[in-house]
Amino acid sequence: MAQSLSTTCTIVGGGPAGMMTGYLLARAGVDVVVLERHADFFRDFRGDTIHPSTMQVMFELGLLDEFLCVPHQVVKYAEVEIGGERLRVADFTHLPTRCQFIAFMPQWDFLNFLAARARGFAGFHLIMEGEARALLRDDGRVTGVRASTPTGDLEILAHLVIGADGRHSTLRENAGFQARDIGAPMDVLWFRLSHRERETQAVLGRVDVGQALVMLDRRDYWQCALLIAKGTCDSVKARGLEAFRTRVARLAGRDDASEIREWDDVKLLSVKVDRLECWHQPGLLFIGDAAHAMSPIGGVGINLAIQDGVAAANILTAPLKRGNVTVDDLAKVRRRRWLPTCATQAMQVAIQNKVIYPVLHSERAPAVPRVLKLARRWPVLQRLPARLIGIGVRPEHVRASARGDDGRLRSS
Ligand SMILES: Cc1cc2nc3c(=O)[nH]c(=O)nc-3n(C[C@H](O)[C@H](O)[C@H](O)COP(=O)(O)OP(=O)(O)OC[C@H]3O[C@@H](n4cnc5c(N)ncnc54)[C@H](O)[C@@H]3O)c2cc1C
Repeated sequence: MAQSLSTTCTIVGGGPAGMMTGYLLARAGVDVVVLERHADFFRDFRGDTIHPSTMQVMFELGLLDEFLCVPHQVVKYAEVEIGGERLRVADFTHLPTRCQFIAFMPQWDFLNFLAARARGFAGFHLIMEGEARALLRDDGRVTGVRASTPTGDLEILAHLVIGADGRHSTLRENAGFQARDIGAPMDVLWFRLSHRERETQAVLGRVDVGQALVMLDRRDYWQCALLIAKGTCDSVKARGLEAFRTRVARLAGRDDASEIREWDDVKLLSVKVDRLECWHQPGLLFIGDAAHAMSPIGGVGINLAIQDGVAAANILTAPLKRGNVTVDDLAKVRRRRWLPTCATQAMQVAIQNKVIYPVLHSERAPAVPRVLKLARRWPVLQRLPARLIGIGVRPEHVRASARGDDGRLRSS
């Protein structure tokens, strides 16, 4: 027989969207249970970018100073190298935000930080190794989830279930929702190369005939993303590791890449861009990647997931406290986040189709695009992409109603 518990809101998924929503709701005095199916937050080759808008949220929550004590790298510029020429694409140093840079921090450090602060609130409950298996329903309304935990099956009854369980969302499937596939012409192979230059404080893209490599400066090493045409990972592997190393070394401008010892050092990100048209049912809401998987262009997936969490907490704190979350309340979250989601995906798709696809299918040396020549001539133009990446469309701020401190610290 399954154990059961009741709460006001249960959140499935302890990723950036789920943890931020859980933190904000608990801080505002809402009882919340977050279920995370893994035993820890450790994931290699996940998004490690904390954007200026996320740090702005941390500032609004009074967490920023403490947060910036967690080891991170500061990235102030995005640059691209085309035919040996280095050009600056984005300059984050003029953003109207508290932090004028992107912080690179392992995602597990970020999530552990949020979890530790959230645990300070009496109403925050995090169940690790808690995997939601199915939705519970009563009279057409979602009333909770059935989960497996290390101590047995658990039924969690809640006024609201938030599905923040990522791009392969189980809940989405369980609820019968189907995402609209927007498509992507590429996949990404992630791997590390050692650092041989001085720290650059930049994200660097290198473009050559038919290929592109993005290198993220992690101080001790470069986190590298090789863009490949969609579905060609197997043929890349079939050509052999040595051919791959040679290709990488050439693109990265070094003698060899023998430090990539085996294919296990290379992780495939199957790029997916999709979104749900409707994000809710009575008693159920999807946010983050579960509502919209983003292309890796701009590295904005975490940012959007967190912004969804802030919007959800802003809109739903009061109805959750009243114990009366209506379908209208849930629709407001989707309405609020629809423009940022669609606008960001539209920009990503335009870059995928107009820049990346031609690069990956060209047999000629790439030329410097006119827009980059203009940005070199008028550096002020480098601020626009920085704004779109660093802040995004319609940034969210923690509203006073969701900020209320009746979450009461456990120690008080
Ligand atoms: C290889 C890779 C590299 C990326 N690089 C970047 C980057 O540089 N910058 C960037 O911004 N974004 C990047 N992304 C995307 C980014 O990681 C996501 O957009 C972001 O993490 C979405 O947050 P989320 O909370 O919505 O979902 P997720 O981070 O996917 O979190 C979902 C959580 O739910 C848990 N879960 C799933 N199912 C269940 C269940 N049934 N029960 C309980 N828990 C469950 C999962 O374990 C996971 O912890 C990358 C993604 C990948 C895969």
